[in-house]
Amino acid sequence: MENISDRWLEIDIDAIKHNLEQVKSLLPEKVRLIAVVKADGYGHGAVETSRLLYQNGVDFFGVSFLDEAVALRQAGIRASIMLFSPLVNEQQVTTALTNYITLTITSLNDCTLLDKISRRMNVKTTVHLKVDTGLGRFGLNREELIEVCQTLKDNPCIYIEGIYTHMAEAASNNPIYTQKQFSRFLSIIDELKQAGFKIPVCHCANSAVFLNYPEMYLNAVRIGTLISGELPAGKFMNQLDLINPYKYKSRVISLRTLDKGSYLGYNRTVRLNQPAQIAVIPVGFNHGLALQVANRPSGWGDFLKVLAKSILAFFHLSRFTLKVKINGCEYPIRGKVFMQMALVEIPVEAWVKIGDEVEVPVRKTLAARNLNRIYIKDGEPCKIEAQERIGYIVEEDS
Ligand SMILES: *Cc1c(COP(=O)(O)O)cnc(C)c1O
Repeated sequence: MENISDRWLEIDIDAIKHNLEQVKSLLPEKVRLIAVVKADGYGHGAVETSRLLYQNGVDFFGVSFLDEAVALRQAGIRASIMLFSPLVNEQQVTTALTNYITLTITSLNDCTLLDKISRRMNVKTTVHLKVDTGLGRFGLNREELIEVCQTLKDNPCIYIEGIYTHMAEAASNNPIYTQKQFSRFLSIIDELKQAGFKIPVCHCANSAVFLNYPEMYLNAVRIGTLISGELPAGKFMNQLDLINPYKYKSRVISLRTLDKGSYLGYNRTVRLNQPAQIAVIPVGFNHGLALQVANRPSGWGDFLKVLAKSILAFFHLSRFTLKVKINGCEYPIRGKVFMQMALVEIPVEAWVKIGDEVEVPVRKTLAARNLNRIYIKDGEPCKIEAQERIGYIVEEDS
C-alpha cells in the first residue's frame, strides 16, 4: 500500500517474539501467562500483537476495556480474553457475554448486574474476582468477596475461575508495601477457602512483580510491558534481554541553512551560535512529541530530580534534549515543539536531504491509533493475518 502520510510506525515482530521467549524463560512451567495487550498492544497494534502471540502459543490475553476485548474476538483470537475493568450497563454485559469475554468482578454492583443478565441470557461465562489490597483502584474487600461468592454459587452460568489483585509499588527498592499487599491477598484467599470457596487461578504479578518477586507468581502472571520490549520504570532483580520493536518514523520536509545568530521557534527560545542546517519534521505535540505524564513528584527526591532535569534541559545539556535519528546519526530537536512540527539542528557539514527518513522519539503509548503500522519480519515488511495456531491445543480449564 502506498504510504502518503509523513508519519508511520515500524514494528519489528521478531523483537516481540524474542521478548515473549525472554519472559517464558523465567516462567515456571505451571504458571500461566496472561499476555496484556491493552492500550492497543502498548502501541504495537493489539490485533496484530495478539495474533502473533497467539500463533506463538499464548492462550490467555488481558485488556482493560470491552471495546479492546471485542476487537480481539473479531480478529479471530480464540483464546481466553480477560477484561480488567468493570462493565457498567446491560448493553456492555450482553456484548461481553456474546463474545465469551472473561470478566472481572470489582464490586457488588458488577456482581448483581452479571448475575441478572447471565441468567436471563442463559450464557455461560467465566469470571475473576478483583481484590483491592492497597492500590486504591478497583476491588472487593473481604466481606464483599464472601457475598459475591455466595451470590454466584447458585448461578449455573457463572464459573469463578480466578481471583487477583494489582500491586502499587513493585518497582521500588522497598519491598515492604508489596509484601504487605501480597500477604493480605493470601489471607483473603485463605479466608475464602475456609468459607468453602476454592478459586483455582490466583494472580498478582505484573511486569515489575515478575522481575522482582518470583515467590509471588502463584498460578498466573499478567505481563504487558516486558513483552512490549521495555522495563517498567524502577529497579529490578532479574534481568531480561529485551528488544524494543517500535520505531516512530517521519521525513524531513524542509531543510535550510541558517546563519549564526538566527532564532528558532516561538518565543525565540534558541539562538544559533554557529550556522546550521535546520530541518523541519512534521511531528509536533499533537502527535505526542515531547508530551509527558504530569504526575505530582512522588517525594522530595523525585521532586529534586524533576527540577534538576528542567534546569539541565534549560541549559541545553544534550542528555536532556530530545533527539531524532537521521541516517543513523542523532540530532537535537531545538526550540519549542510546535503543534504539528518541530525543528532539528543539523551541523552544516552533515549529509541530510529533504525526504530523508527520521526516527522521532514519540512514546509508543501516545502515538495516534490511526497511523499506518508497518510490520517487519527478517528486515522485510510483512502482514500478520488471522491464522489458526499450529502445534498447540487449547486446554480448557474445568
Ligand atoms: C496493565 C496491567 C497489567 C500489566 O502490567 P505491565 O506492568 O505492563 O506488565 C497487569 N494487570 C493489570 C490489572 C493491568 O492493568
